[in-house]
Amino acid sequence: MSKELRVCHLYGNLLNTYGDNGNLLMLKYLAEQNGITFHSEIVSIYEPFDPTKYDLVFFGGGQDFEQLIVSQDIQSKKEALTQFIEDDGVILAICGGFQLLGHYYIGADGQKIKGISALDHYTLSQENSRYIGDIVIHNEEFNETYYGFENHNGRTFLGEGERPLGKVLEGKGNNAEDGSEGVIYKNVFGSYFHGPILSRNENLGMRLINTALERKYGEKMQTECV
Ligand code: GLN
Repeated sequence: MSKELRVCHLYGNLLNTYGDNGNLLMLKYLAEQNGITFHSEIVSIYEPFDPTKYDLVFFGGGQDFEQLIVSQDIQSKKEALTQFIEDDGVILAICGGFQLLGHYYIGADGQKIKGISALDHYTLSQENSRYIGDIVIHNEEFNETYYGFENHNGRTFLGEGERPLGKVLEGKGNNAEDGSEGVIYKNVFGSYFHGPILSRNENLGMRLINTALERKYGEKMQTECV
């Protein structure tokens, strides 16, 4: 019987800057190339998130305005999302999504946009400035290099139990200070890469799929980049 991957696109109708939805297309493409049946659905405002229903969650980025709307709604999903994360659920969270999994993001005009504190990072803002440009990072643990494009106001500082997705080789990353970019916490992968991240880094896409399938079926997967 063919294996199946059930994906939740969290707030997919509100958070989708710079082609982040392309990550879903990449996940679908990679899954289907490996004979895996792919299903995805959006879970947005006023809808419950059922942590038992999904193998993988994709949470994209957004402008501060949409992020504020999501910030209010996501408090009602905090417990279920935290349960999914603590139960080793796989999440890819980009930019605004990455920020909202942490404690808070101080938006460009100074308002505090509350996250769900499922992860221990927090995000400050820059005055009249953004980090925009090409970025290259290296993850020593996987010995993989990821390529992308960043565009964010937020400056994120990682906390307890968090390690970066990679070390910045080119670009700014989380805060242009400590050389970190993105986050890994359990099976949560966060990043500031747009572009979308998976179209240029299918090794990361396969890592997400394999991790989700291993958790679901309890066996090492044979799937690979095609
Ligand atoms: N609004 C956030 C920031 O500027 C997130 C941006 C994004 O998701 N592209 O940092």
